[in-house]
Amino acid sequence: MAPGPIGGRVGVFVDPSSARFRFARFALSALGLAGVAVCAAVASGESVGRIIDLTHAFDSETIFWPTEEGFVLEKGTEGVVDQGYYYAAHRFCTAEHGGTHIDAPIHFHADRWTVDQIPLDRLVGPAILVDVSERCAEDPDHRVSVSDFETWEKQHGRIPDASIVLIRTGFGRFWPDRKAYLGTDERGAPAVAKLHFPGLHSDAARWLIAERQIRAVGLDTASIDHGPSKQFESHRVLFEANVPAFENLAGLDELPASGFLVVALPIKIRGGSGGPLRAIAILPDDSAESRAAVSDPPPRPTDPAPRGEAPTHYGPS
Ligand SMILES: [Zn+2]
Repeated sequence: MAPGPIGGRVGVFVDPSSARFRFARFALSALGLAGVAVCAAVASGESVGRIIDLTHAFDSETIFWPTEEGFVLEKGTEGVVDQGYYYAAHRFCTAEHGGTHIDAPIHFHADRWTVDQIPLDRLVGPAILVDVSERCAEDPDHRVSVSDFETWEKQHGRIPDASIVLIRTGFGRFWPDRKAYLGTDERGAPAVAKLHFPGLHSDAARWLIAERQIRAVGLDTASIDHGPSKQFESHRVLFEANVPAFENLAGLDELPASGFLVVALPIKIRGGSGGPLRAIAILPDDSAESRAAVSDPPPRPTDPAPRGEAPTHYGPS
């Protein structure tokens, strides 16, 4: 079973002369109501809405699986060169699976999409947020169940088909404290048996695929399967159906239950099983404050910005 792309018109814009037409088609053909609201705002030129960063920065603190080395930024040139201008260029080394990243379906299933093969319409679309943080505070090994989704649907209505489903376990608030976030701060293969954090139950993964035809699923823990998992069944269920997973998401505490758009674009590694991901959410917001925020050009820095600091409140939870 290898379902093809869904909402395949996203990104196929035939008339480059009409931005308004393109956005309207984008919204109506592929994105549903959340996309319509966001895209109508964009097409009107009034506002792009509020943009939430769902991505943790990559640095030496970034959490990786206990068997991985972590992110390394190898400093290259940094400073004024002989010709008199400033120049900076570094190198980085990273495992595919660490920090905010995507699992491509081939991560746990042969003959499924590698990260470069995932159609863009799996990575851009209307999204919902299921908040199970109370359950996960009581049980750090909680597996999000079909009944958790049914509870959400009683409050918010049916999860629209072809949604990106985000799960807020609340564990994002522990980042980058490895012991609190993973259940252990030990490294190496023996530490894997000591992992404790919530994940998605494989029955719920099957339900999301069969009953709601989801585009993708993501959460604020290190794995779509909960920490004690040995068989990684939810990974296997999702990836057999070519449904990608986003892990270690940030900023989920800033999202509403529904009515927003997610754009989650990974590094395009040919043949890769996953990779670093820049994920954002776009919320429709027509408030005067929001319009001012997007219509005023950002200030041009006259002094060097403080290094390593996020410029806004959009940082990790
Ligand atoms: Zn992964």
